[in-house]
Amino acid sequence: MSRIYNFSAGPAILPLEVLEQAQAELVDFCNSGMSIMEMSHRGKEYDAIHSEAVANLKELMQLNDNFDILLLQGGASLQFAMIPMNFLGADLAADYVNSGVWGSSAIKQARIIGKVNVVADTEKDVPTRLPDAAELHLNDNAAYLHITTNETISGAQWKHLPQNITASDVPLVADMSSDILSRPIDANCFSLIYAGAQKNLGPSGVTVVALRKDFAERESKNLPSMLRYSTHADTNSLYNTPPCYSIYILTLVTRWLKNFGLEKMFHQNVAKAAMLYNQIDSSGFYRGTAVKEYRSDMNVTFRLPTEELETDFIADAAKLGLKGIKGHRSVGGIRASIYNAFPVKGVETLVAFMAEFERRHG
Ligand SMILES: *Cc1c(COP(=O)(O)O)cnc(C)c1O
Repeated sequence: MSRIYNFSAGPAILPLEVLEQAQAELVDFCNSGMSIMEMSHRGKEYDAIHSEAVANLKELMQLNDNFDILLLQGGASLQFAMIPMNFLGADLAADYVNSGVWGSSAIKQARIIGKVNVVADTEKDVPTRLPDAAELHLNDNAAYLHITTNETISGAQWKHLPQNITASDVPLVADMSSDILSRPIDANCFSLIYAGAQKNLGPSGVTVVALRKDFAERESKNLPSMLRYSTHADTNSLYNTPPCYSIYILTLVTRWLKNFGLEKMFHQNVAKAAMLYNQIDSSGFYRGTAVKEYRSDMNVTFRLPTEELETDFIADAAKLGLKGIKGHRSVGGIRASIYNAFPVKGVETLVAFMAEFERRHG
């Protein structure tokens, strides 16, 4: 068996231990004589998996009983629509931060439903960054404030949320698809957190939503059942058939993370990112694309002096098993996504390759 170093932004690398356990349990799950993919979502085996996923997420996100954890489908993209459908009434406006491609995608969907105030816009800024407190023109009477904590494509992340965001009484809604559970957070300042699982939590097909109960009460009552949060909250996300296998892997990933420790994972993530940023900063050859203060610990984005060199860099890296480092097609350059499951050894290998490539071409 030869596993590559997979720097893909998503779907992304999973812990090898998790894949091996899934392999061992694939055809006969816990002496049930069947695979998880073949069994009822209302049976006792699946019920244990589902409950553990919810419990692990609650514990890792340090959520109190004011929150429900929902396991939904449709990706973060469906949340872009469901959030305004549920919480943006006809007479209200919502505040949105446009910090990049994902913030902008959320805004586009919300505008189909209702009124949006863009309270800060750094989408087109070069080098890339997120807005600071002074730039945010927040409205006290907004239905909610929507932010993206880590812009996966540009590689910009809020290390600490601006003070006026955390202090605001307006319900805070956050797309954390690409940095959820990469570090401890104070979840209690949020009203809704959502994340497609395929970056840092598991495979695609399941979307994690943490929803505060008092905010949930404001939902629109004029929506089909599947599009209402209460439908899923009232049924423990078992209103219809859930993506059982994706949730099973999510359970194994959250179990793995609990065993490792979230605080320890955070320190490892910071250390992994620092190795790459130090290599970038110590050279005149590589150029980071994000403002230092906003550099993402999850998606490390940088450029080489020319696009030709970038093409060679990607090809030579692939020969060493360093794959998935091509930047998003909309921005080009290099992007190394180094989520929780990405091994330290893989980062060290990339750093050594960067030094060697610079010696040859710098
Ligand atoms: C990947 C990503 C999305 C889109 O997720 P889907 O699950 O494919 O809909 C949205 N927001 C962020 C921050 C992402 O990284």
